[in-house]
Amino acid sequence: VIGAEALVRWQTADRGRVPPVEFIPIAEETGLIVEIGEWVLIEACRQTQLWNSDREGAPPLRVAVNVSPRQLHRGLLETQVRKALEISGLPPALLELELTESALIEDAEYVIATLGRIKALGVRMAIDDFGTGYSSFAYLRRFHIDTLKIDQSFVRDLLIDREDEAIVCAIVQMARSLGLSTLAEGVESAEISHALGMIECDFAQGYHFARPLPANEFAAFSKTSLQKV
Ligand code: MN
Repeated sequence: VIGAEALVRWQTADRGRVPPVEFIPIAEETGLIVEIGEWVLIEACRQTQLWNSDREGAPPLRVAVNVSPRQLHRGLLETQVRKALEISGLPPALLELELTESALIEDAEYVIATLGRIKALGVRMAIDDFGTGYSSFAYLRRFHIDTLKIDQSFVRDLLIDREDEAIVCAIVQMARSLGLSTLAEGVESAEISHALGMIECDFAQGYHFARPLPANEFAAFSKTSLQKV
């Protein structure tokens, strides 16, 4: 286990746990996502730094945080990232921001400049759900991207659909040529995990490894896997 992706959940007193599919679109629409995004960034960095204070010599964990297009385009992302790193004390190289292709396409020159300044802090950049949007190969470099997160729609049927297999192989090979890391999303079986290893995809995530976990359970999970290795 090299790290975790931060996922937000909303526990309410009267309605129990509200699923993110219900509140994230409303937060996006109202703009509240900018404040939620800042809170998530700070909490994710703080939590990861806490986990890393108790790793008994094992390599420190990284954390990936999803960034909303509004957070990026409102001009607050750089300030929010600096604040989260400062409050938490997390080394910038352990933070990876996940952006979608559609968030990058709009006002590209502005995004390139913003991401360049954040990148200069030492933070890593990933494209989330890679392969489903308008991928511009020419931009991969200019957007300062480190990691391609291969969308689960290509990973799910990797062993039964030859076209999906070809797409995943092509993404991994292209990424390697460009010096980028690859991570497969939505891995739900040992067979698919093994196949991804054979084509030298660098990292993977999904239910095969763990379902989304509360922070305290993740701490225990990340340690169990250390012992197994
Ligand atoms: Mn993500």
